[in-house]
Amino acid sequence: MTRSDETNVAFACRALLKESIRYAEMGWMRGTSGNLSLVLARDPLRLAVTASGVDKGELTAADVVLVDGAGTALSGPAPSAEAELHARIAAVAGAGAVVHVHALAPVLAAERWPGGVPLTDVEMLKGFGRAAHGDKVVVPVIPNDQDMRVLGDAFETGFRADTPALIVSRHGIYVWGTDLRQARHRLECLEWLLRFALATSAEHPERGM
Ligand SMILES: [Zn+2]
Repeated sequence: MTRSDETNVAFACRALLKESIRYAEMGWMRGTSGNLSLVLARDPLRLAVTASGVDKGELTAADVVLVDGAGTALSGPAPSAEAELHARIAAVAGAGAVVHVHALAPVLAAERWPGGVPLTDVEMLKGFGRAAHGDKVVVPVIPNDQDMRVLGDAFETGFRADTPALIVSRHGIYVWGTDLRQARHRLECLEWLLRFALATSAEHPERGM
């Protein structure tokens, strides 16, 4: 690692640490689940990713790993296998930060709409970067797999630049943005939207959304 890499990783550590604690407090990173990443360089791609098997409410600087575009560690402890998907999303979507959490609502929504979760005509869609009226959003859903290449290929097949999220069924959700703050705002709004969709479809099963 060069000195500027070290400076970047130190900066990323602080940012990832702060965000991880917020998500852990929301109950979206139960056990040691979920991971966050921040893009440090684009060419070649370099990301700082939270390490595998760590309680995200107790993250320290030693728990952040520098990985390349294939999700392979360049320094620090072992990254989560999911680092590979973070890198793929960052490369394909041009994202600056990728957030992966095991919140419940996305997983329930994927059970209800396995072909993609439809959302339309809700004010909160503006927080997801879409229009509050007349904008038919479909959040992609892909089957879970332990092979990150399979997940990455499925993500790329359904990728749309205007829909910065991916639900992995019976697993969790990925949301991305230009930075960690934008990714969090999008995730917070989307999680609310998914809860709304589930609650209203339970009340009016014939209507869907
Ligand atoms: Zn996961």
